[in-house]
Amino acid sequence: MLIPLLVISAAMWFWRSSTEDSKQPAVDYSVFFGWVEKAKVELVTLEGERLTGKLKAPETVHDRQIDSFHTYLPSSDEALLPLLRAKGVRIAVTSKREPFAVQLILSLLPWALIVGVWVWMSRRAQSMMAGGGPLGSLKSHARKFDKNTAVDVTFDDIAGLKSAKQDLQEIVQFLKEPARFRRLGGKAPRGVLLVGPPGTGKTLLARAVAGESGVPFYSISASEFIEMFVGLGAARVRELFQEAKKSAPAIVFIDEIDAIGRARGAGLGAGHDEREQTLNQLLWEMDGFNRNDLLVVLAATNRPDVLDPALLRPGRFDRRVVVDRPERPARKAILGVHTKGKPLAADVNLDALAESTPGFSGADLANLVNEAALHATRKARDAITTADFSEAYDKIVLGDPRETKLGSREKRRVAVHEAGHAVCARFSPDAEPLRRVTILPRGLTLGATQQTPGQDRHLATQPELTSQLRVLMGGYSAERLVLGDISSGAENDLREATDLAAKMVAHYGMSEKLGPVYYDYRTEHPFLGQKIATDGGTSQTTVAAIEDEARSLLSGAMEEATQLLTRRRTELDRLFAALLERETLEREDLDTLLGPTTMQGGESRESSAPAIAVATGLPSTCPLRS
Ligand code: ADP
Ligand code: MG
Ligand code: ZN
Repeated sequence: MLIPLLVISAAMWFWRSSTEDSKQPAVDYSVFFGWVEKAKVELVTLEGERLTGKLKAPETVHDRQIDSFHTYLPSSDEALLPLLRAKGVRIAVTSKREPFAVQLILSLLPWALIVGVWVWMSRRAQSMMAGGGPLGSLKSHARKFDKNTAVDVTFDDIAGLKSAKQDLQEIVQFLKEPARFRRLGGKAPRGVLLVGPPGTGKTLLARAVAGESGVPFYSISASEFIEMFVGLGAARVRELFQEAKKSAPAIVFIDEIDAIGRARGAGLGAGHDEREQTLNQLLWEMDGFNRNDLLVVLAATNRPDVLDPALLRPGRFDRRVVVDRPERPARKAILGVHTKGKPLAADVNLDALAESTPGFSGADLANLVNEAALHATRKARDAITTADFSEAYDKIVLGDPRETKLGSREKRRVAVHEAGHAVCARFSPDAEPLRRVTILPRGLTLGATQQTPGQDRHLATQPELTSQLRVLMGGYSAERLVLGDISSGAENDLREATDLAAKMVAHYGMSEKLGPVYYDYRTEHPFLGQKIATDGGTSQTTVAAIEDEARSLLSGAMEEATQLLTRRRTELDRLFAALLERETLEREDLDTLLGPTTMQGGESRESSAPAIAVATGLPSTCPLRS
């Protein structure tokens, strides 16, 4: 109602000024001044810089007879007023202010706008929450999968994960035949937490439970709640449970539950209240359904350690199913599942492929098969060959081949750097066997030295980690030794080595000075998800001591690498020359150039310091980053 009023008043204003203008046409100031000098003007009215006037007798301007006119005054013409007085012109002055009504409206205008926008926004938010309006599609991200159509995944599509499948079998039984399940004394399951690293098949398992028991499957990713408008997260949870209950028996799956389920009070800044509200609503819903509601809530996370304890209490997510990275036989089975129905060349050996992919998750393996198939298609082959798998492996581990052509100086440096890593890896008794060295740029790397453990590793011993530090320092040391200076290319190596050294000191108890102790040093922040120096728990002196010890481990590793490379200078030069010539050296080439790898570290491992073991991850690569 405010807008029309404004439009009307503005229109009136225009009308008024335009009618005035037609009665009093504009004339140039010089014309007006001329009339004054010739004493033709009877009366002038000053209104700010606007001047209207009346003539004693009509004059002709642009073929028109006028007796009054208007013009605009220059900012200062001191001659005008005395002249007007001298010629006996009557002078009137009026204020140039607008009428009161216009003034009032103009001063209210900003407020009216603010109130209007506010009303409009709150209406819009309301209609979004109610699911109406043009943005109603935002209403529910919860996807319902009808039991007949979408969920066609069964346990057979999941390779490995035997114990997880066994644990979940109980849920399937409950959803299929609740009465029988209870008669046999089973306690109705409520919440199951699937715990494991990304890509290991948690989502797949949840869907398979729905598929096996033939019930609807409602899934949502908790990170979506957090992106919502304030207050919507909790509403979304309520809606999700309402709908699921309506079509019970059903499964509700909450992916990435750590996004809302992080311990309360751990958050920083905005968004943190929102998360708590959402979490509280979830807890409330889980308490709210009773034994007769055939609803099972599955949730997935790879960070069970950060979850709010309230989530894990009895009656909520009180069961845990661990979904681990696949071991070699499971990897072979997963490769089997994903190559099913795809033509494989005779030279493809899934067993060998499983052996060379320690640390790969199910998703990595699915990706590997997919990339290999794409590569085979691009090469117009009828079947996927080992070469395709090898290309796919490189693409996943190192990234796409790059167009970049290195200049000869840079190429030389990369070759020296990688040769340094490789020689250290080959001649350190406890390092993993070399797989390949390359100076072909890929992804973010300019070159890479790859090592692959012969078997699945769950632990790393102190001598192995010390060797790893030495290998990481090999590139840096070789550049210094052979070229006399270092480059920015070692950044990534140094970062990795520094992280590892700090962990050895602060987490694994591998420092003489600090002894067998775990310090919460630079752990991941629970809300920011980034590494920061912790402020609580570890004193500044301890942090300084950790950093001191880590530095001395690193300079020790550097020293050892330099000594080793000096001793093996012949091999280093030979490898470096071969790399410049052939760019990529495979395991067999490396054996020829450096001598075959004997039983890796068989004896030295016996003689080295007592092994301290820690958990370990992926096969190591030492890419030289650009
Ligand atoms: P997560 O939820 O644990 O991150 P997903 O369940 O989304 O992992 O798995 C991603 C993909 O990886 C699946 O769609 C599937 O193709 C593949 N995958 C993972 N684990 C397995 C497995 N055990 N068997 C077969 N395929 C698997
Ligand atoms: Mg998932
Ligand atoms: Zn490097």
